Amino acid sequence: MSLQSKTALVTGSTSGIGLAIAKALAGAGANVVLNGFGKPGAIEAARSGIESEFGVKAHYSGADMTKPEEIAAMVAQAEQAFGAVDILVNNAGIQFVSAIDEFPIEKWDQIIAINLSSAFHTMRAAIPGMKKKGWGRIINTASAHSLVASPYKSAYVAAKHGIAGLTKTAALELATHKITVNCISPGYVWTPLVEAQIPDTMKARGLTKDQVIDEVLLKAQPTKEFVTVEQVGALAAFLCTDAASQITGANLPVDGGWTAQ
Ligand code: NAD
Repeated sequence: MSLQSKTALVTGSTSGIGLAIAKALAGAGANVVLNGFGKPGAIEAARSGIESEFGVKAHYSGADMTKPEEIAAMVAQAEQAFGAVDILVNNAGIQFVSAIDEFPIEKWDQIIAINLSSAFHTMRAAIPGMKKKGWGRIINTASAHSLVASPYKSAYVAAKHGIAGLTKTAALELATHKITVNCISPGYVWTPLVEAQIPDTMKARGLTKDQVIDEVLLKAQPTKEFVTVEQVGALAAFLCTDAASQITGANLPVDGGWTAQ
């Protein structure tokens, strides 16, 4: 499989799942545009590391996914630098946990903006270029929470169900343009974000590390194993192949059986 003449823009790719997707696509030969927040030194190390490890070009955009004009400028800059955005991965996302009646309004707005509306803005900006080339791949990182709910995650679950609907609509609109649109729905993935929650949860609930993992984090995941970021990256790369050209409008769980229950 080669994505050698392609360019992939991956939002929220300075860490975790997005970075692994960017690496998987670069590993298949695509040039990549990284996006997200973080320490400048760490971002530059990730960017230059991708260039040297995979022999592709890697750019970085610090566009804020809550700002439609920055999103449009990011897509325009990528098109200018590489000639096209062939592969668009909408991955940026945040979480906030609270009861609905106590949920801060600004957190609701921020989650809907980053986890849902940013995908509309990137797609709106990138689809004309894909149509012109007659080829494209749009992959949205949804979540098991695009299929089922958990309490206290109202904004996240609403945004993730929303992105599943946006995926289906875009797939239908683009079906005859050789542009596929799918979402990947991970269960619990072992990322720095998840790892960092463990000490606090141990303290708050008086549990051991293993108990936190089994009884809290992996409670809903029948395999009792975390998904790895590499497994999500590999599926994203597969969705960019010709073998996947008839997979469109799908919501693909990678969740150890969570949503089978
Ligand atoms: P992460 O915190 O490691 O990565 C999130 C990325 O989004 C980072 O690069 C961050 O800088 C970026 N980001 C946050 N706000 C942004 C903004 N305003 N503008 C631009 N970039 C912004 O988290 P992760 O676990 O890798 O999550 C990535 C995606 O996967 C999210 O959409 C998340 O909902 C989804 N997901 C994660 C899990 C999990 O268990 N980790 C499970 C299912 C779905």
